[in-house]
This record gives sequence, structure tokens and C-alpha cells, in this order.
Amino acid sequence: MHVRIFLSRYRAYTECPDCQGTRLQPDALHFKILGKTLPELWHIPLDQLLFFFEGIATSHAPLDKTTGLVLHEITSRLNYLCEVGLGYLSLDRQARTLSGGEIARVNLTTCLGSALTQTLFVLDEPTVGLHHRDIHRLTRVMHNLRDKGNTLVVVEHDEAVMHQADQLIDMGPEAGEHGGEITYQGPAKTNSKKKIAHPSVSLRRAINSYSQQIEEAAGPSFNRRSLSK
Ligand SMILES: [Zn+2]
Repeated sequence: MHVRIFLSRYRAYTECPDCQGTRLQPDALHFKILGKTLPELWHIPLDQLLFFFEGIATSHAPLDKTTGLVLHEITSRLNYLCEVGLGYLSLDRQARTLSGGEIARVNLTTCLGSALTQTLFVLDEPTVGLHHRDIHRLTRVMHNLRDKGNTLVVVEHDEAVMHQADQLIDMGPEAGEHGGEITYQGPAKTNSKKKIAHPSVSLRRAINSYSQQIEEAAGPSFNRRSLSK
């Protein structure tokens, strides 16, 4: 039996009796914002937390320069998280309990917050697990990234996202080994009536066969995994 699985029988998550799971020293718990301690703020869903901090910004204006800067950073990060449809999460939610799609979208907001420019973002189906009504918010986030001077390559099946692209590349004509050809490239809008095949599957296939060519050129010692993963 694997050691990790063996040990997990004897491990469990228990609440710390000293801080009651707040993870802070007693002194730190004395700091409060409008009567709320940090752990209490972490426990509020992000959309309500955004509302809370926006309320401070408007009701306590004019703010001094430092406070204004900090508040701006806090509200913009919270705003990004709500924009990608994660407003129901709270800050004390453990990362290990998030789904793959949620982690991907949290990472996306990290990129947004860092205000990167001239960067290539490759997103593999960012809409997975996202409620349909939140898709337009995600595309708005992607447009914002583009407008900051970045390039986004998005592998996507969702038609609403595809129509928002400046440039659409349709891989086909079929899935898997029957694809790998570019069947369409151009503006998304003129292609709206055309049935789009399996772009994700086919694109992956195209990347695999490309890395195979490099592998053949580089000799048997070349590690192909480093390219296709
Ligand atoms: Zn503790």
C-alpha cells in the first residue's frame, strides 16, 4: 500500500482549540473593520464582501492616499473574482476543496490583477463548470485582458465564447485522428451559421503530431511530454 494512503487513515482535520480555526494570534483578532475581525470578513461570500468594501470607499470619502490605494486594490481583486462568476466563494474556503474550473478562474483573476501586458495567455476551456449566465462576464474579462495589450488563445467548445473572438480557428473536419486540419480561419461573425466541429480535441491532436515531428527531428532522447503537456 502506498505510504500516503496508509498515513491518511491516521490523519484528520481538527479545529485548533486556541484560535478556533481563525489561524490568528489573539492580538491580531483585536483589529476590526467596521466591527468585523479578519476571520469574520474571510467568511463573507465574495460578492457581499465587495459590497462591504465599496460601502467603506463611498461612506468614508474623502480617504487619505494610502487607505484609498489599499481599498482600490481590495475592491478590484474582489471585483475580478465576482466577474468570473466566483462571487459565491469566501476567502476562508480551502483551495483543496475548489473544483478544477474554479481554480483556473481564480488563477485568471491573478493575471488580471497583475496588470500584465504583451503576454500570451493560453486558456483551455475556461468555461468548464461555469453557469451559462456568467459566460458573458468571463468574455468581458478576456476582452479586458486583450485591451491591456495581451493575446489570448482560447480552446473552447462554447459557441457564446467563440463568437466573441477576434479570430476564429476551426480545427477539423472530425475529432481525433480524423482532424488536425484548419477548416476555417477568420473573423468569428461571418462563420456564425457554420457548424463548428470539435475544436478542442482536434487542436490537441494537432499539437501532438507537431511535437512528434520535433521528436523525430531531435532524436529518440527527446522528451515529447514536455511539449504536449
Ligand atoms: Zn490556532
